[in-house]
This record gives sequence, C-alpha cells and structure tokens, in this order.
Amino acid sequence: MNIVLFGAPGSGKGSQSELLVSRRKMTQVSTGDLFRSAIKNKSQLGILAQGYMDKGQLVPDQIVIGMVEEVIKSGVVNFILDGFPRTITQADSLVIMLEKYSLKVDKVIYLKVSDTELLRRLSGRRVCKNCGAVYHIDNKPTKVIGICDKCNGEVYQRSDDTEASISVRLEAYSNSTMPLIDYYKTKGSLLEIDGNGQVEEIYERIVNVIS
Ligand code: AMP
Repeated sequence: MNIVLFGAPGSGKGSQSELLVSRRKMTQVSTGDLFRSAIKNKSQLGILAQGYMDKGQLVPDQIVIGMVEEVIKSGVVNFILDGFPRTITQADSLVIMLEKYSLKVDKVIYLKVSDTELLRRLSGRRVCKNCGAVYHIDNKPTKVIGICDKCNGEVYQRSDDTEASISVRLEAYSNSTMPLIDYYKTKGSLLEIDGNGQVEEIYERIVNVIS
C-alpha cells in the first residue's frame, strides 16, 4: 500500500510514519528529511534548499519534484510520502510520475490538528543531530538535557522551529498546501483523521482506516 500522509507542520506526520515503518514495514519518504540529509552532506541540492528551509519557505516545486522522482525511480514500494505533495503542482506531478512507474497512491491521510496544538508541538520540538530521534521539551524530554536517549547524539532545535520560521511555515501551509484538501476531496481519496491526542491513539485511528 502507498500512502500520502498530509498535514500541517507539527501535525505528527513524522511520528506516525516512524510507527508505520516499524510496525507495518512501510518505507518513509520524507522530503524534509531528504533535504536535511542533503544539507548535512553539503550537496548541491542541500545548498539550494537550505536558504528556503531556514526561512520556513517551501523549496521550489521543480527541485522537490526532481528529488522525489529519483526516489520513485529507485523502485521504492509500500511507501509513505511524508511532506509531499505540498502544492497542487507537486500533486499533479506525483500522478504523472507514479503512472510512469506503474504505481499509484492508495490512500491520502490528512492529519487535522488545532492551531494551538501545532504551535505547542513545533516550538517544543527537539531533534537528535545524529540519528534524527524526535523529542518534545514537555511531552517527551530526553533523560539528560541536550543528549539523545538512543545514541547520545546532540539534541537541538531545528533552525526552522523558531518562532519566526514557524509562522512563515504555517502561512505557507495555509496558502499553498491547504488547497490540496479540496483537491483530494474532489478525487474522493481524502481520509481525515483527528491528529490531536497521543501518538498511539492517533496511530490506531490511522490503522483503522488503512486496514
Ligand atoms: P518538514 O520536515 O516536512 O517540516 O520540511 C521542512 C522544510 O523542508 C519545509 O519547511 C520546506 O522548506 C522543505 N520542504 C519539505 N518538503 C517540501 C515540499 N514538498 N515542498 C517544498 N518544500 C518542502
């Protein structure tokens, strides 16, 4: 099964993808993670993307689409698209590129979360620089401040999780990404899930609609 996991920054796409990967052997394709890793490796793609990401802006469509096509081309199956598509242009390109490789999206899951909860999650989020484990200063703090429980790596605040970037990201979401709700509703493939609450209960809601 191939899924698009869709929702605002902070809606829990990453946490839910992590569970789907470990419990249902799915493959997570996170465009945000792909960009972060390109930045870490100082590749040309990373250099291109970094300026947009630091400001909280969307990376231009053609760059993102090209990057996703590389992944699709590699023969990935049973995947979760986490953070892609984020614009109508990306959604249209997705259809074309999947057709090209005889693939399709089976479900589009929209994680709906209140604005106050999004802000709380994003501003308190901390991430391990080394293994990418995600923490929250209130809900899921590290045992030792600043040190990852899993790998002892350095835990930091993403440069786009600052107040200034968060507001740009939420605005980009509402201007460019929210139109996808109607886009997928019209196609009849949108499954709306209440994304408020605990990670495990949200996971149950997702499993109920994809099983
Ligand atoms: P995320 O980790 O999904 O929150 O993504 C972090 C940042 O990566 C976003 O704020 C954008 O700058 C960039 N990004 C990730 N996915 C996309 C996409 N599909 N389209 C444009 N920019 C993206």
